[in-house]
Amino acid sequence: MIRLACSMLAGLARLLRPEAKVLRMSESKDENQSPRAVPKGRAKPRSGGRNSVYPIPVDRLISELNRLPGIGRRSAERLAFHLLKSPKDDALALAAAITDLKQAVRHCAICFNLTDTEACAICDDGRRERNKVLVIEQPKDLLAIEQTGMYRGLYHVLMGRLSPLDGVEPVDLTIASLLGRIGDPSKNAGGEAVTEIILGLNPTLEGDGTAMYLHDLLSEKTDADGRLRVSRLARGLPSGGSLEFANKAVLADAIAGRQRM
Ligand code: ZN
Repeated sequence: MIRLACSMLAGLARLLRPEAKVLRMSESKDENQSPRAVPKGRAKPRSGGRNSVYPIPVDRLISELNRLPGIGRRSAERLAFHLLKSPKDDALALAAAITDLKQAVRHCAICFNLTDTEACAICDDGRRERNKVLVIEQPKDLLAIEQTGMYRGLYHVLMGRLSPLDGVEPVDLTIASLLGRIGDPSKNAGGEAVTEIILGLNPTLEGDGTAMYLHDLLSEKTDADGRLRVSRLARGLPSGGSLEFANKAVLADAIAGRQRM
């Protein structure tokens, strides 16, 4: 019985061995030829292991451009080849502009707008109404409001909005600096006291939440000395628009924010 079992085991081992050998052979074949790694018609990897036909500097530029928002691989290649063809001075001027941007541009010490000096051009402008501060999310919002030419006060850029789901809390925004400006006139541009805060956050769920948070925070200050006025930008129907084409949210805001005539 024991002898029979031993011979069965030996037979099984003989049966398995050739299969194992075939498997090892096929694996080594895959390793040498890698039929899936390099499909027909595509460039073979270089000796350095890169799967590209371009020189390393071209590849590097393409992958850097590809990381920019809205720039896909094809667009990145097109831009890289455009730069290769353009005069050397033009390409170097672009490189110098990027270097200057990262070395010279920073946030204004008072309002967090972009600047290349200590205080931005708006905070520095003595003709502006320095008692008014319009609170916005990003420096690009400031640009949009400036283009209307309707506002002559100062700004405060929050550098984002509260978003508990993404882990953005009050300490991640410039709220403490805003409160500092309100509480201490020497921290505001021109040393002038802030008497009006206008909340200009985006009309989104998170923007509204941030505006509510700031409103509650600032209301406490209003109660304490009674001099701070807090308002928010009006919403509703745009001039020249018509009711039938306005979306539901715009109409709802227009009704909620109706004005006495
Ligand atoms: Zn500023």
